[in-house]
Amino acid sequence: MALQLYNTLTRSIVPFEPMFPDNRDAAGRQVVGMYCCGPTVYDYGHIGNFRTFVFADLVRRYLEFRGYAVKHVMNITDVEDKIIRKVRETGSPLLEFTAKYTGIFLEDLSTLSCLPPTDLPRATQFIGEIVALIEKLVARGIAYKTSDGSVYFSIEKYRGCGCNYGQLVNLNFDAMRVGERVANDEYDKESVADFALWKARVPEDGDVFWPSPWGEGRPGWHIECSAMSMKVLGPSFDLHLGGEDLAFPHHEDEIAQSEGAGVQSPGRPFVKHWMHGAHLLVEGKKMSKSLGNFFTVRDLIAKGYTGREIRFLLLSAAYRETFNFTLAGLDGARTALARLDECLGKLTELAAGAQATAPADGLVGRFTEAMDDDLNVSSAWAAVFDWVREQNRLLAAGQMTTVQAAIELAAWNRINTVFGIPGAATSEVPADITALAESRVAAKKAKDFARADAIRAELKSLGWLVEDTAKGPKLKRV
Ligand SMILES: [Zn+2]
Repeated sequence: MALQLYNTLTRSIVPFEPMFPDNRDAAGRQVVGMYCCGPTVYDYGHIGNFRTFVFADLVRRYLEFRGYAVKHVMNITDVEDKIIRKVRETGSPLLEFTAKYTGIFLEDLSTLSCLPPTDLPRATQFIGEIVALIEKLVARGIAYKTSDGSVYFSIEKYRGCGCNYGQLVNLNFDAMRVGERVANDEYDKESVADFALWKARVPEDGDVFWPSPWGEGRPGWHIECSAMSMKVLGPSFDLHLGGEDLAFPHHEDEIAQSEGAGVQSPGRPFVKHWMHGAHLLVEGKKMSKSLGNFFTVRDLIAKGYTGREIRFLLLSAAYRETFNFTLAGLDGARTALARLDECLGKLTELAAGAQATAPADGLVGRFTEAMDDDLNVSSAWAAVFDWVREQNRLLAAGQMTTVQAAIELAAWNRINTVFGIPGAATSEVPADITALAESRVAAKKAKDFARADAIRAELKSLGWLVEDTAKGPKLKRV
């Protein structure tokens, strides 16, 4: 079976086929262009935001597993209504303010073991491209300037050109307030309103403005993504991702601006395949600070959870399902990962550095079948834990050879290029714990067994178990 993915444009699961099959990299791999709407950098990202970014990382990794070379673009929105408000409140310069939160975002992405996107365009570095795109829309009569020097996109003119507004969502134009004008980047989901492409400078903008043919001002949010994605990936590309809340109006407006500019070759769309990740609930409710269920990645790390546990939990449910993220779920992730780690540890010990000629088919086959089915991670993890059970059975029965162990390990390593769960490396043992374990070894050597036992108890109270093996003591999380 080939890879099948749900496409929001067609509302159906369809085979994934790159738009330009002859576009290949130096290694001969087909190149896939993929754009995921990135963060607006004005605050710490919450766990709901990161569900989308981990989802994008999964899509990119699975396409690479399937042999494609992925150009993975994620924009950084570094000029936008909320940012300007914060810059005004904090009094810090725009670039300094956004650099801080961009850095924090990239650190959080790395905590969750997401591969860095191949391109991270920042909106403020694309003002020239944004202005040029708006000029095209004005020249085609689809955008118009208002008396204050702003420029708006006309839904009516766009539709008048035979273009389709409402490709990602079904819109009832009769019941909606067509022709109204909105300056906000995020507007009422019920209105099909003309939206701002360029916002004329107002006193509240402070230093945040650029020159343009229509006067000083700044871009709207929607046009930023059209300009950056087409500049980096070309006027037509394969995949566009984002959270489902962005489908309308943001993504619909991206299509309208990009196709309205008429820069695609005849018959080619702006984007062939749209994918949207579902919402995240936390403890059964929509996240909110007042309910106490609003978590940033850093909040969860401060509670003692690890990036790998958070990543595992986020990757345990299919991306199109609303997922209920809970602290109990994170505890469950810890237990599940410990089972996996233990099995991998035993296989590694038995394999003792033996090289596998090829990974075992069984696990890789079941994994691929599950993931080809619109990235069915639940079924892929079920395959992994069935495999763990089987390896444990063979190991316990003494029916596993060194070579077999190496082959099975290679299978896990192959599929883990997609899951991206970092190993339970010894480096994860904090330095003070290692020092305690070493002092226990010293106590045993000095035959001070009472002291050694006391240190063992202390380690246990800190959450670590010491296991004495032929190769020396090993530390495991309780
Ligand atoms: Zn976007």
